[in-house]
Amino acid sequence: MRTVIYPGSFDPLTNGHLDVIQRAARLFDRVVVAVARNGSKQPLFSPAERKTLIEHSISDLTNVTVDIFEGLLVEYVEQQSGHAVIRGLRALSDFEYEFQMALMNRQLNEHIETLFMMPRASYSFLSSHLVKEIAGLGGDVSPFVTPEVKEALAAKLGQAGVN
Ligand code: ADP
Repeated sequence: MRTVIYPGSFDPLTNGHLDVIQRAARLFDRVVVAVARNGSKQPLFSPAERKTLIEHSISDLTNVTVDIFEGLLVEYVEQQSGHAVIRGLRALSDFEYEFQMALMNRQLNEHIETLFMMPRASYSFLSSHLVKEIAGLGGDVSPFVTPEVKEALAAKLGQAGVN
């Protein structure tokens, strides 16, 4: 039973995240999407809201579960009996931070590998940050997120119609 953990803020889930989850679900027996409670950023959605949004979007993937975690990622991975961590790589700009993080995590626990996956090219410019910005300005985010996330953004940002 090979388990992989996909950690992140997911504030909120985008189609880019979803693309990575689907790819990971084909490679591993079990995928745990781990919503970080203690990110340094000020999130728009609570950890529970982010978790629910992901759960609704992955209901067709039977080997994927969603959880909330806090503290050290490597400790969480051990606790879940995970073998690896998946991170998504978009442009070169992701690389520096992800590289540092992967090697630091290896320093903390050399048994946990970090794997990187590229999303479909059309999602490689997509970020939760940009989606929130577009939604906040009244733009149409339907090409970038699931209908549930689009609705949640409209509700959260207090707009009757985010297009
Ligand atoms: P962070 O954990 O840095 O707060 P996010 O929650 O935004 O980041 O994303 C979690 C993981 O998913 C990170 O590895 C990030 O690089 C990756 N990711 C984010 N957006 C995309 C995308 N559009 N395509 C592929 N991977 C992505």
